[in-house]
Amino acid sequence: MTDIVLTHGTVVTMNGRREILRDGAVVIEGNKIVSVGKTEKIKPKYMADVELDCTGKLVLPGLVDCHVHLAQALIRGCADDLSLVPWLRERVHPMQGTYSPKDGELSTKLCCLEMIKSGTTCFVESGLHWRYGFNEIARVVEEIGIRAALSKKLMNLRGYADVPDAICESMAEDGETTLRQTLEMIKKWHGKAGNLIHVWFGARTPGACTVDFYREMVEQARKHQTGITIHLGEVKQDIDYMRKEFKMTPMEFMRHCGVVGPHVIYVHGVWIPQEDFKILSETEGTICHCPASNLKLASGFAPVPEMLHAGVNVALGCDGGPSNNCYDMIREMKLAAIVHKARLLDPEVLPAERVLEMATVNGARATLWGKELGSLEPGKLADLIVVDQRNPHLVPVRNPVSNLVYAANGSDVDTVIIDGKIVMQGREVKTIDEAKIVERVQETGLEVDKRLGLEIGPNWPVK
Ligand SMILES: [Zn+2]
Repeated sequence: MTDIVLTHGTVVTMNGRREILRDGAVVIEGNKIVSVGKTEKIKPKYMADVELDCTGKLVLPGLVDCHVHLAQALIRGCADDLSLVPWLRERVHPMQGTYSPKDGELSTKLCCLEMIKSGTTCFVESGLHWRYGFNEIARVVEEIGIRAALSKKLMNLRGYADVPDAICESMAEDGETTLRQTLEMIKKWHGKAGNLIHVWFGARTPGACTVDFYREMVEQARKHQTGITIHLGEVKQDIDYMRKEFKMTPMEFMRHCGVVGPHVIYVHGVWIPQEDFKILSETEGTICHCPASNLKLASGFAPVPEMLHAGVNVALGCDGGPSNNCYDMIREMKLAAIVHKARLLDPEVLPAERVLEMATVNGARATLWGKELGSLEPGKLADLIVVDQRNPHLVPVRNPVSNLVYAANGSDVDTVIIDGKIVMQGREVKTIDEAKIVERVQETGLEVDKRLGLEIGPNWPVK
């Protein structure tokens, strides 16, 4: 007896040959995909507990968001139209600096709800401060049933590039404690919740860590066989700082600190010079492209088509509530696909298919689940999504990948299966009370502003 069979869908397999199956089926047993093929061939072979008829729908691997700030969902829209350092120092950090684990927990619930409802099945959290409550957050992730690499933030200085006190008092942590807490969380949560949760090292940006501290982190990550994620070259200040202070490019500096390898995700990579592409491709690290965040914060344009051309693995990320301001990978795919065309005056760069690869196979490669995720093939983990194509903005269907990237949005996602479990069906998330969370977030979100005496509201008169 098989657990779940999805039938009559258009299956975008993302397999090595990138096959798309019309009237296709996917069979799930336990947490694995056991068969993928034409419905007429598959259906007679399997008796299923649950059959999901996917007529008029697209079936594809769950999207992998390689850069998420869980704690920032609760401060969505708190710092619009500001540049990065004041954005961080005046709003984002002070606000997060008032958090208790209860706030961290609520923000995680909100963020995971939004991700699931827009087709993300696996994400990499950028770095959790101790005050958000790592344990509480991990428990929420387990309960909701989404796959996550949760990073603990690590730092031993308070700077951001050449600004020495950029990190406010309430968000500052000392090196020894951040390292100890990360190791404790690895012991407690790495590979736990049925291997839904991994624990990573969330290294802070150059200026907040000494070279020796990065090296210590690298050593520990190697020992525990886990990943490291770091914001790198997000704004011009980053590259200027590394050039001035160390006489190195960002990737030369990363190599100097040992922060290189297939287990490293460098976030943004806007200010990565061409000479760094070789180091990136040779060391097999991943650049996580966050176009909405880079555009909104006016950070610049990451050279994504150029990096892909040089053999660099480039994945995609939504970043956070004050920078994006949403966690919808489908919207992010469209932005990634169109922004570079205008930048390079070339509509042929980054076709829809390449961008879907960034959000699936490339993202999967960046995570420790590597070969187990990213495509629909027998033996892979059963993380997949179903997208309804029977919407006015999604017909006619000529190329379903084009419609998904250029015309769809997160609310077209109908069903989400993670680790073989139906987490959302018919847009109803089964593992959490959505209405209750939305209500609590509205209240608590505005309460966070009040803690700091901030009045953030409409810029137009309200009657
Ligand atoms: Zn970020």
